[in-house]
Amino acid sequence: MNRAALHKISYGLYIVTSGQDGKFNGQIANSMFQVTSDPATVAISINKQNYTSELIKLSRKFVVSILSEETPMTFIGLFGFKSGREVNKLQNVKAKTGATKVPIVLENAVSYIEVEVEKELDCGTHTIFIGNIVDCDVLSDAVPMTYAYYQKVKGGRSPKTAPTYSKEEPATAPQAASNYVCSVCGYVYDPVKGDPDNGIAPGTKFEDLPDSWTCPVCGADKSKFEKEK
Ligand code: FE
Repeated sequence: MNRAALHKISYGLYIVTSGQDGKFNGQIANSMFQVTSDPATVAISINKQNYTSELIKLSRKFVVSILSEETPMTFIGLFGFKSGREVNKLQNVKAKTGATKVPIVLENAVSYIEVEVEKELDCGTHTIFIGNIVDCDVLSDAVPMTYAYYQKVKGGRSPKTAPTYSKEEPATAPQAASNYVCSVCGYVYDPVKGDPDNGIAPGTKFEDLPDSWTCPVCGADKSKFEKEK
């Protein structure tokens, strides 16, 4: 079995929020799709360990915000590599509430979908939640981010709890100056691309990054990085 075949599946990049009674959380998800058109339903696959999973099971509601290509890695890192059990991820994020009363993340989102859960399917490590769309709207004309764009252009990787996580996730092509990999979250610093979101120009070698530079995804410092083999 060549698991690289699975890396060819197309996905998007979304923030799924859920909760009730003042307890809310959001997380990055890449596995979401429309199931039927009439009635309009969608499905998401969420790891059982994630706080969001707990909140969906309790509230039976969730909101999906579809992220744009311009979404900064720090924003993805906040929702993808930190746990809502430890930080209030929604604290400083632009959001509103609608039909489901679940926070709708507006920042970096091109559209959103509000869902009431109808069914769930136990899939071992993950649960697939299927629900009716109770409201949805478009927020901007920006291009939605695909998972391929996140991996290739932004240097992003899957956290261990993602349905698509693989120990053999391919690294970006080796360059003359070495790539460095974050040992915490798997983010790859590619000197050709630099880290423009954080003021690091393309062409900056890892060795030349300021000591104050931290992983744009999880916030780990330079010492947590290893040269890519
Ligand atoms: Fe990191």
